[in-house]
Amino acid sequence: MAESARARPLPTPETKHFWEGTQAGELRLQRCDDCLHVYFPPRPFCPSCASRKVSIFNASGKATLYSYVIHHRPAPGFTPPYAIAVVELSEGPRMMTNIIDCPQTPEALELDMKLEVAFEKLDDKVTLPVFRPAKG
Ligand SMILES: [Zn+2]
Repeated sequence: MAESARARPLPTPETKHFWEGTQAGELRLQRCDDCLHVYFPPRPFCPSCASRKVSIFNASGKATLYSYVIHHRPAPGFTPPYAIAVVELSEGPRMMTNIIDCPQTPEALELDMKLEVAFEKLDDKVTLPVFRPAKG
């Protein structure tokens, strides 16, 4: 029996720019043109002031580890143990993700550790942003 596939996000009109970005190796965020608030996940209006004048820009890809849990049960597409992490992007927003290239242990996963984005292609439609320890 084939290994069951990992659940995939379904791009919508509001998130299309984000998923096109990850396919191009870019982490795209939105910034409000009125109050300059930077936010994620994607939406067509500013969550801070409700302005619809928002712009899309490429984030630096730099982040720090904000929080995580280590999952010990199998899930489709994952080999336990694996960390489900929340990272804080240097631009401000937080994002739920996975940490790669790093043992999935409390010793290796230090809060506030510096991370950088990487892109994990799942299929022709979806590439996920994941994070790994920053080099240097
Ligand atoms: Zn705003």
